[in-house]
Amino acid sequence: MRVLVIEDEKKIATFVRKGLEAEGFVVEVSNHGDEGYLLATTRPYDAVVLDIMLPGRDGLSILRNLRDRKAPLPVILLTARSELNERLEGLNLGADDYLAKPFYIEELIARLHAVTRRASGATQGILTVGNLSMNLLTREVKRAGAAIELTPREFTLLEHLMRSPGRVLTRAQICEQVWGYDFDPGTNLVEVYIQRLRKKIDADDPVELIETIRGVGYRVRPAP
Ligand code: CA
Repeated sequence: MRVLVIEDEKKIATFVRKGLEAEGFVVEVSNHGDEGYLLATTRPYDAVVLDIMLPGRDGLSILRNLRDRKAPLPVILLTARSELNERLEGLNLGADDYLAKPFYIEELIARLHAVTRRASGATQGILTVGNLSMNLLTREVKRAGAAIELTPREFTLLEHLMRSPGRVLTRAQICEQVWGYDFDPGTNLVEVYIQRLRKKIDADDPVELIETIRGVGYRVRPAP
């Protein structure tokens, strides 16, 4: 798989390149928006990893231009935690997914596989596990077609679980990804939120999707 990484922060660009290459991806890096756009429009890539703040053309304008040209190229945006508006604008403009910095390389790899798998389908920005679906743009969550109201935290927690069905997330990972701070082993915050999610997601369905892996953490059961 050929991936173009448009990112001006050298540290992040190097981290991404090394991580993806170790996984067998062919990676090209550009650290300038104008050059990156030129590469994206003239060379064959399977996906683009796109930073938002760039010298020259910024990430959102690159994305807009790619979509104006009807380029079906899957795009994953790299956003800072504070760039909530940019993230939403990016999804509106047709980004396939986003990743908030800092991130684990495994997370980027999983999403690259996901966006390239569904590149041909019309399921942009929608996560699905069994009869549970989550629209990242409209923030609608549905189980068997019935809408479920979630608070922003509950949504983020479920999003992290649904992004990699079958993979177990530890309480520490959940704390860091959902609340953005180091895990305090004395707190039962994660348990409380998992229970709330279960009530909303699993209570009315014969199949329980949220699973506790005793002594390890939680996961969303992969669809059979
Ligand atoms: Ca940047």
